[in-house]
Amino acid sequence: MQISKLPKLSESIFSTMSALANQYDAINLSQGFPNFKTSEKLQQLVTEAMQNGHNQYAPMRGDLELREVIAHKIYKSHQTQYNPLTEITITAGATEALFNAITAFVHQNDEVIIFKPAFDSYEPVVELNGGVPVFIQLNYPDYKINWDEVASKINSKTKMMIVNTPLNPTGTLFTNNDMLALQNLIKNTNIIVLSDEVYEHMTYDGLLHESACKYPTLKEHSFVIASFGKTFHNTGWKIGYTAAPKHLMDEFIKVHEFNVFSINTPYQKAFATYIQDENNYNYLNQFYQDKRNLFLDGIKNSKFTFTPTKGTYFQLLKYDTITQENDVDFAKRLVKEFRIATIPISVFNTNQLDEKVLRFCFAKTDETIKKATEILCQIH
Ligand code: PMP
Ligand code: GLN
Repeated sequence: MQISKLPKLSESIFSTMSALANQYDAINLSQGFPNFKTSEKLQQLVTEAMQNGHNQYAPMRGDLELREVIAHKIYKSHQTQYNPLTEITITAGATEALFNAITAFVHQNDEVIIFKPAFDSYEPVVELNGGVPVFIQLNYPDYKINWDEVASKINSKTKMMIVNTPLNPTGTLFTNNDMLALQNLIKNTNIIVLSDEVYEHMTYDGLLHESACKYPTLKEHSFVIASFGKTFHNTGWKIGYTAAPKHLMDEFIKVHEFNVFSINTPYQKAFATYIQDENNYNYLNQFYQDKRNLFLDGIKNSKFTFTPTKGTYFQLLKYDTITQENDVDFAKRLVKEFRIATIPISVFNTNQLDEKVLRFCFAKTDETIKKATEILCQIH
């Protein structure tokens, strides 16, 4: 008898590489988190909320003021309205939101289309629910989507499609044409779109984030998932939210209610105040673009090759001019010999396709970025 529901799953690459980085005292550009501080003001708001007695259960869907503030933020960014009472839920990070949306809708043998390379939270949750992941592999360096191929994978069993823009780990963006193609494919179907938009505030070179909620038909089919951890430099706080039309959210909250019931109260109170000021997030595109540029400038004379990332706080570097080692082995060697930790991309690909590409997180202080690029220039 099979005991495990996820027999193929082993430790995540994020845990492996961060542990190796600690063991070898390496610069950790692997797991995606900033090494600079979250805002003092935000920390102060959390403390005040605790001191003011906001320490008991929050409403199941989240603090209402926070949901109202989020609805307003989405309206300002994308000119579309969600009802804060019924169409927005605060979650324990984007991770909980992904779990809820997949679990609420995917039945045994339902198919879920996933683009590869993909963030590692999607596939196991589909499998836990008895669903069947259907992969579409995209390729370095453009990771361009062939929408005819996507159309060919859709059939009567297709329940859901998971999209991620800006895309982790590739650093690519869905364009306006991609969104229109997606909308065209799912109109007149019951397919649900899980739109993972946790890097919404990290797009570069004047390119814009295309949210699923901007496209009216797409919006009707979509969960839009966001992460405060990613946006506000506090991944350890594990807060995010999901917006979706009522008919989808009604099912989502049935899982949320029995998964966590509600999210920690004082942090929600703090975000409700903090997010009201656009200046607390409008600077992010430029802020991270400067970091990306510092990183790319630092490695321009190295042997790595690259296409500048368009979004997320990750940069991919190809190393086939340095070695033909497989990417997992090379990543491990970089930690041990050069004291720099990265993420090998093959772990996110179908059949561990190895295109000799590593992912580097540049959400780091300028000092760390400079030290890291000096090391990268020494690798021949
Ligand atoms: N989606 C993507 C694409 C991610 O990179 C991450 C990692 N932060 C998550 C979801 C999970 O976000 P959170 O930390 O808010 O759970
Ligand atoms: N999203 C983070 C990354 O891609 C990792 C989150 C996690 O460790 N689960 O690096």
